[in-house]
Amino acid sequence: MPEGHTIYRLAARHQAMFAGEKVLASSPQGRFAEGAALLSGAVLDRTEAYGKHLLHHYDGGQALHVHLGLYGKFADGDGEPPAPVGQVRLRLTTDLHWLDLRGPTACELLSPPEVEALQARLGADPLRADADPDEAYARIRRSPTPLFALLLDQSVVAGTGLIFVTETLFRAGLRPTTPGRELSPEGWRKIWADLVELMGTAVRTGQIDTVYDRHLPEAMGRSPRVDRHGGEVYVYRRAAQPCHVCGTEILRADLAGRNSYWCPTCQPTPRTRSGLKRKKR
Ligand SMILES: [Zn+2]
Repeated sequence: MPEGHTIYRLAARHQAMFAGEKVLASSPQGRFAEGAALLSGAVLDRTEAYGKHLLHHYDGGQALHVHLGLYGKFADGDGEPPAPVGQVRLRLTTDLHWLDLRGPTACELLSPPEVEALQARLGADPLRADADPDEAYARIRRSPTPLFALLLDQSVVAGTGLIFVTETLFRAGLRPTTPGRELSPEGWRKIWADLVELMGTAVRTGQIDTVYDRHLPEAMGRSPRVDRHGGEVYVYRRAAQPCHVCGTEILRADLAGRNSYWCPTCQPTPRTRSGLKRKKR
């Protein structure tokens, strides 16, 4: 599933293509025919990303809400659109540009109160200036749930996905299973600052890079990571490979129904970190 930075890039792209223009809407597949008919002819005022949700705000107050989910995809181009191929849920066109949406989890029209309700359900989005990290920490600090699951919970932090959460926990030296209530205020400040920085960089570059300069391939004399998403990471999808920092083999386990990855040396359990109950061998 795309992480928040991808939705921000799409919002900016759609704004550049369509803002201030009268947009014609259709649903070649038919599943959004009614919504497209209501939308068609409206002028796009602005676009907005909130977590993994994309909003197009049109004159008259209605908003188009899209959540791509696992399979949703946009395609766009200049000039005349091609004949629709596959299940095109929504097609937007102007004289200059076209945009197709296929396979989203959500594609619907929302009224202003419904937009507010959607945003009220979502947690603090590190990419938004109006985000409230204190509110997120208030949820985290009283929860026994593993940090890994809390940071993926879109009602706590919005826009984060597996890569950002996995890598931020590595950079904070925290094991994914660490209960939320064991996270100190300093620990949270570090995690939040990292999310703001890493996600902001990803919006600019279009890929997720989470390693410090000293751990880049050229600095370490190692081969770059081979992955279709690109980008250099510490632990995500690196099970059984050596940690870039300490050489220990990266581990993987199922946690909250998702794949979690960590370095057992760089991310000790709270117990071993405090040194109170370390077992003698
Ligand atoms: Zn390590």
